[in-house]
Amino acid sequence: MKKGNIGVTTENIFPVIKKFLYSDHDIFLREMVSNAVDATQKLKTLAGKGEFQGELGDLKVEVLIDKEAGTLTVRDHGVGMTADEIERYINQIAFSGAGEFLEKYKDAEAIIGHFGLGFYSSFMVSDRVDILTKSYQDAPAQKWSCDGSPEFSLEEIDKSERGTDIVMHLSDDCKEFLEKGKIEQLLSKYCHFLPIPVVFGKESKWDEKEKKMVETDEDHVINSVAPLWMRKPAELKDEDYKEFYRHLFPMSDEPLFWIHLNVDYPFNLTGILYFPKLKENIEMQRNKIQLYCNQVFVTDQVEGIVPEFLTLLHGVIDSPDIPLNVSRSYLQGDPNVKKISSYITKKVSDRLSSIFKTQRAEYEEKWQDISIFIAYGMLSEPDFYDKAKDFYLLTDTEGKHFTLDEYKTLIASEQTNKDGQTIYLYATDKEAQYAQIEAARKKGYSVLLMNGQLDAPLMNMLETKLEKSTFTRVDSDVLERLILKEDVKEQTEEEKKQYEGLIKAFSDLLKPAEDDKKAPTYSVQTQSLGAEAAPVTLTQSEYMRRMKEMARLQPGMSFYGELPDSYNVILNTDAPLIRKVIDGDDSQVAQLVDLCLLQNGLLKGEALQRFVERTMQGLS
Ligand code: ADP
Ligand code: MG
Repeated sequence: MKKGNIGVTTENIFPVIKKFLYSDHDIFLREMVSNAVDATQKLKTLAGKGEFQGELGDLKVEVLIDKEAGTLTVRDHGVGMTADEIERYINQIAFSGAGEFLEKYKDAEAIIGHFGLGFYSSFMVSDRVDILTKSYQDAPAQKWSCDGSPEFSLEEIDKSERGTDIVMHLSDDCKEFLEKGKIEQLLSKYCHFLPIPVVFGKESKWDEKEKKMVETDEDHVINSVAPLWMRKPAELKDEDYKEFYRHLFPMSDEPLFWIHLNVDYPFNLTGILYFPKLKENIEMQRNKIQLYCNQVFVTDQVEGIVPEFLTLLHGVIDSPDIPLNVSRSYLQGDPNVKKISSYITKKVSDRLSSIFKTQRAEYEEKWQDISIFIAYGMLSEPDFYDKAKDFYLLTDTEGKHFTLDEYKTLIASEQTNKDGQTIYLYATDKEAQYAQIEAARKKGYSVLLMNGQLDAPLMNMLETKLEKSTFTRVDSDVLERLILKEDVKEQTEEEKKQYEGLIKAFSDLLKPAEDDKKAPTYSVQTQSLGAEAAPVTLTQSEYMRRMKEMARLQPGMSFYGELPDSYNVILNTDAPLIRKVIDGDDSQVAQLVDLCLLQNGLLKGEALQRFVERTMQGLS
């Protein structure tokens, strides 16, 4: 038997490995299985070139638990190692690099991959690791053994089968890796798409007679589904993509679209990204992009690699070119990663653009679901905005869709005011703003429905990007003034005087209770809007409303958030019901006030009850 020292620069590298990587020690299994797969692939390559001419046999990788011995074994039938290769590849591992690496990144959490540590990560969970190996070359089989000190032993053994067993004698605090469920879970996480079958135990099936699950003779293969992203898009059908999606995310609805990524210059990247059907809580649906490095799962934390707005997509990305053994903040500054990120952004916008151009009906059908991604992207990525402005759709209250250009053309003549500003009228709630929507439509205006989660900031942005464009909610007070209309007449001083009594009659009823600081405030005004228009309308300052909405979303603006809601009550001095009040009959003012509040969802509690009772009395 030979004894010797492992060629490490730091004497105590093993305790460091143990401690340092503790938080993520699950990855040792990934490392052992991928080494086994590598060794198997190498053998296949040699066979392909005719350099290995023996029987390949069943080239599976096996993971075996021995509870009694307290060991976990990863077995392959790959190239194996000669004594000389063990010396070179295991003993003289270039730990100087690893030592520096450990110095540099003391914060284990900041690291997403530890590829550099490879084989030695087995010591995170083991008191002792044995390598039993027989090379495909004609050389005696070897047993290497090391107990976590820099000392190892190497001896010849009897082993007739080609390949390598890595036997990990699990330490006391790592006995969880003797549990079938734990290993099963880790294997399906990390090894799901490896190119060589990974076998763990036997397949079970339901036995009708015994009324329980029983083991069959068949191997239980972890990676039975082929990684679809490795195949050529031209070979694949829609159903293939959908099935793969179901496999990745079993409980999800069918995806809306998908994008097959495939590039080999200037970097190597493949993958499939799906547009999922999003549910209410979008935060919950992040981190469903799995990152692989040559089919080995690395992480599902892809911030920094995928642009923020695309972290809502689901799918897989596989790239050997993403530096995995570094901290995340480093990743974000990496020029390669930046390139990858902008490549993905471009692919996504190209794909959306082509669906929009060639299948507009289908695109519109799915607009409801994809609009959130697109709005998010337009808000966060200027490059994406430049493309998306051509396939972003505005939707009117009747459900018709328009591109920004189409809509501008549609409303330009009717909704441009004397200062040349085009007014985009919108509603945020079709029910609550029904009366105002109807009133605007009667005048021949188009009203957009902007009720999406990101529509408020999006409108702010569009106002800065689109020339001479203003978004104004249908119930906003600027409406009448902003839009060129012949039927709004300026009031004379004499008229104003004439309406003082009218204004007072309404104001008295709308005064908030003294002690209620949160109650909405109302400012009563008169306007001549024509006999056909409603007698009383409620409007709000567009500016104040937006400020208050933003205050809800952003800290530091609480000043606006604490202000009570304020409304303008516009009395139409041409309406017969208002004329009656002007002429001295104020018997119906209370009813008019309540009806107006009711229409705007502002009549509540006691006031609502009083209104109902009064109205009932009127009925009898
Ligand atoms: P890497 O896989 O990045 O090369 P590792 O530390 O994981 O680094 O492995 C070091 C080397 O040990 C491998 O390159 C390979 O030569 C050898 N090795 C590890 N596991 C096996 C195995 N199961 N069969 C054959 N060789 C192996
Ligand atoms: Mg390795």
